[in-house]
Amino acid sequence: MTRRYNFCAGPASLPEPVLEIARDDMLDWHGTGLSLMEMSHRSPEVVGIVEHAEQTLRELLGIPDEYAVLFLQGGASTQFSAVPLNLLGDKGSADYANTGQWSKKAIAEGQRYCDVNVVASSQDTNFCTIPAQSDWTLGDDPAYLHYTPNETIGGVEFSWVPQTGVPIVADMSSTILSRPIRVEDFGVIYAGAQKNIGPAGLTLVIVRRDLFGSAHTLCPAMLNWQVAADNDSMYNTPPTFALYLADLVFSWVKDQGGLSAMETVNRRKAQKLYAAIDISSFYANPVELSSRSLMNIPFILADSNLDKLFLQESEAAGLLNLKGHRSVGGMRASLYNAVSEVAVDALVAFMQEFEQRNA
Ligand SMILES: *Cc1c(COP(=O)(O)O)cnc(C)c1O
Repeated sequence: MTRRYNFCAGPASLPEPVLEIARDDMLDWHGTGLSLMEMSHRSPEVVGIVEHAEQTLRELLGIPDEYAVLFLQGGASTQFSAVPLNLLGDKGSADYANTGQWSKKAIAEGQRYCDVNVVASSQDTNFCTIPAQSDWTLGDDPAYLHYTPNETIGGVEFSWVPQTGVPIVADMSSTILSRPIRVEDFGVIYAGAQKNIGPAGLTLVIVRRDLFGSAHTLCPAMLNWQVAADNDSMYNTPPTFALYLADLVFSWVKDQGGLSAMETVNRRKAQKLYAAIDISSFYANPVELSSRSLMNIPFILADSNLDKLFLQESEAAGLLNLKGHRSVGGMRASLYNAVSEVAVDALVAFMQEFEQRNA
């Protein structure tokens, strides 16, 4: 068996030790004679795993008691509707920052439910910058401000948290667990699991409990955060196997030294790749320096006629999923937590060697 280096934007690389534990547990979880997938979600085993996952996540992120941790389904995209349905209350508008393709999708969904005030947009620079808050136009009495701290497709990220008088809602799908954050800065944090948390099929929502109680009467029970909180994320059958894997990933992050240690490695990985791109005139990254993402790094080849060859040869070298998103073109390497420094070194070595042969 040969494991390859996976730079996929999502579903993404998972830590190998986690996959090994899952393999060993597959047919018989801890002497129960059952696979975890075959157990009732109400069994003490599964309830214990979910509680342990929540506890470990609370430790890692420093989540205060005033915040509920919800394990849901439907992906981050379902939260694009759940956010207005839970938070608008009697308000008719919400603020949204438009910094990339995921912001745009959240905005389009928000517009079904309220007047969306776009506080700032970087669309005219093809989403290569984060507009400074001094240039934002905040709305008049919005229910909340929604933004995307890391835009997975454009490879741009905020190095700061917006300050407004309303609850801040952050789609952290592609940045959560990559570094420490201050949960207290946010009203709501949500994330699809398939980047830094675990396999697809699980969605994390962290919500300050004082924001409960404003859900629209037409908000489906399945999208109502308070219903999920009141039922310990088991209003219906949760994705038990995805939760089990997420629990293992949280423990793995803890074993690595937690989020500060994660950040140190992630900064080193990103720095290596950006340095290799910047030193060469063969490769380029379109993003403004201060807005570059640690997790998703797009790069283009000076001669796009070489794109196909680059992808063929990188794949043959065991470096997978480097094709960029069609809206940006070129390549994209996602360097999530489970992508090792060794993988980044292998990518950089390949890029330099490819340049030497083709420049
Ligand atoms: C991947 C991603 C999404 C979509 O997540 P799903 O779980 O597929 O709905 C939304 N926002 C961001 C920032 C993402 O990276």
